[in-house]
Amino acid sequence: TWDLVKSGIERDVGANNFATWIKPLQFRSLDDRTLSLASPTDFIGRWVVQNFSDIILRHVDAAGIRASRVICTAGAAPVAESAPASPVRSRTEDGLDPRFTFDSFVVGKSNELAHAAARRVGEGGPVSFNPLFLHGGVGLGKTHLMQAIAWQLRERDPGCRVLFLSAEQFMYRFVQALREQSTMSFKEMFRSVDVLLVDDVQFIAGKESTQEEFFHTFNALVDNGKQVVISADRSPSDISDVQERITSRLHSGLVVDLHPADYELRLGILMHRYEQCREEAPDFILADGVIEFLAGRINTSIRVLESVMTRLFHYWGLVRREIRVEQLPDVLGDLLRASERKLTIDEIMKKVCDHYSLRMSDMTSARRSRSVARPRQMAMYLAKKLTPRSYPEIGRKFGGKDHTTVLYAVRKIEELIQSDPQLAEDAQLLQRRLES
Ligand code: ADP
Ligand code: MG
Repeated sequence: TWDLVKSGIERDVGANNFATWIKPLQFRSLDDRTLSLASPTDFIGRWVVQNFSDIILRHVDAAGIRASRVICTAGAAPVAESAPASPVRSRTEDGLDPRFTFDSFVVGKSNELAHAAARRVGEGGPVSFNPLFLHGGVGLGKTHLMQAIAWQLRERDPGCRVLFLSAEQFMYRFVQALREQSTMSFKEMFRSVDVLLVDDVQFIAGKESTQEEFFHTFNALVDNGKQVVISADRSPSDISDVQERITSRLHSGLVVDLHPADYELRLGILMHRYEQCREEAPDFILADGVIEFLAGRINTSIRVLESVMTRLFHYWGLVRREIRVEQLPDVLGDLLRASERKLTIDEIMKKVCDHYSLRMSDMTSARRSRSVARPRQMAMYLAKKLTPRSYPEIGRKFGGKDHTTVLYAVRKIEELIQSDPQLAEDAQLLQRRLES
């Protein structure tokens, strides 16, 4: 019944509103004339209650259900996970995640080409490259960009037939069509779209008949001037077990890779998520330095950055107090450890020496002339900041110095970062190099 009600609402609110706000809602209960729904976030829940209560109640009423109030709180499963958990869910295809839009996509050096190409496709109209092939490691934003294209195309032209699905879903549907002997309508369906977006195409490696069908679909669309967008976790030529003629066709458009996020982009994404959280709860406060610390430490996938912010937000919900840097290991322990790249003190010394044209022996020596002492202090500072080593451990590494020497060095550099722009720049540059 709820699905019926939903489709009724869709006619009233339009496809975009529907996809963003109504579609993700799940039915919870109906008690005492109160219709309780689950939304992906509290924010969406509040928005729905404020803006769509009347419409929802009207349609509920039309379906013969008596309700006078709508409540809606977080708890619904995300509409579309990038990696479909079960093929059953893939069947209710078209699930675009309302969060994955261009608006919420933070652009940085590592993804600007991919973003620009995706935007171009999202504008609709003829595009000079076809297909667009996006590739890059897990959690770098491929699915996000593809769905953003779909959202934008739909928004510009609701009549545009955009189909987004994972290669796994493609295969699932194909196999089902074979089983039900409905391959004709399968082919028709896929060949009648204006834009086809297929996510995680590496999945079809080794699956001969799916590959074959995919290849035909792909060719039919491209030959008819329909745009195709494909993503994979590696480049076309690195996908093994896919026929050569297919990979070379995949290569024939624009191939762009997404790189791991650098420090600035990580900072940007964290800030963006932080703002979003604060929109939901203006009292949510992270102490100075928390975001910078996280951007420095978490250098695996963007997905981890997001879970970190979500975790902090939930934690804050419990304690309702500003969260400080010292608390992060406690709150985030596992997440921090997971993305710990084992940066060694030797690497740090090496980079610092390169930067200031010194020799490694200068790091461990006792020379006090500033041209040597300052860089050494910088290296100690970076060692403290970027590794989990203690002051005494760092001291030992630097030619057996006392832990107070290290402590002093760290304080000194922290102080100078405030007052000496050149040094502050050096520190930033070095940190970035060490973390990339
Ligand atoms: P992939 O498909 O490449 O594995 P996703 O697109 O699923 O990665 O991205 C993982 C998570 O990180 C998603 O929640 C996505 O919204 C987020 N994300 C990735 N890149 C960005 C970005 N540039 N700006 C904002 N969020 C991003
Ligand atoms: Mg993905």
